[in-house]
Amino acid sequence: MPLDIREVNRPITEIYDVFVKVTDGCSHGKCIYCPFFKEPYRRLSVQEIEEEAIWAKGWCEDQGEEPKRAFLQGADAFSQPFETLMAAAEYIYREMPWVKSIGSYARVDNFRDKTVDQIRQLKEAGYSDIYVGIESGDPRILKRNKKGYTPEDIREQMQKLDEAGMVWTGNFLNGLGGHRYGDKHARLTAALYKDLKPVSIEVMSLTLMEGTKLYKKGMRGSFQEATEEERLEELWVFLTCLENETVIRCRNVSNAVKLAGRLPRDKQKLLDEIDRALEKGVDFDRERIRKL
Ligand code: SF4
Repeated sequence: MPLDIREVNRPITEIYDVFVKVTDGCSHGKCIYCPFFKEPYRRLSVQEIEEEAIWAKGWCEDQGEEPKRAFLQGADAFSQPFETLMAAAEYIYREMPWVKSIGSYARVDNFRDKTVDQIRQLKEAGYSDIYVGIESGDPRILKRNKKGYTPEDIREQMQKLDEAGMVWTGNFLNGLGGHRYGDKHARLTAALYKDLKPVSIEVMSLTLMEGTKLYKKGMRGSFQEATEEERLEELWVFLTCLENETVIRCRNVSNAVKLAGRLPRDKQKLLDEIDRALEKGVDFDRERIRKL
């Protein structure tokens, strides 16, 4: 079935892309805070992906647009095997020669079945700026939220991307540890990133969404959300500890304070912005985000 453009799921920076579906649902589907990708997981066949690329080309023609970038659809499109991703790239370029690069969401464990050489070939085929849902470098938080991988797994798999020269973006889920847990979460996540080379790090802030297991825990009182001030303090510690040369983007709808900058150049400026927000007091309607 052709991709329903209203159901496109993409990072904020990928707004002008053309979208090509390669998987349905999520290969993991167990993270207890996640309200997304609830349809059963399925890898589209190579033939179906070819049909999706043809459909996407028609969509571009209808819009009179020639997007320079394609973004694969699926919670973790990189769960497709190497050969299928190579075939997807071939169909995308054949149908839409204006496309110059391909992005995707990925889980850390999507790279387990791929060698460094295969990741390098994917890079040479035009895959670039892959969004990897790291969320945290704290083993306790990863386990509690059923992420399905450990900090060691993250380090091992992301080092393969770095060795292959694949450009990737990681993230930090601000507030994931809950009330009074921010400092450790921030320090361990910054420490995890230390030996890695993400081109950028997206910061999002945890919102308990109705229907998720974490929301139910919140209702029962077995999980207490971090306050907005605690989240900002956590972000302050994360940025202070982060030693990478990278871009920080904190512009998601879930972020009470919107920030962006390049590290280390803009570190002090970002920290000052957080300090000012804390002094002023944070007025953020998280209930509104819950209803989006
Ligand atoms: S891997 Fe991503 S999409 Fe899948 S359940 Fe976890 S947060 Fe949701």
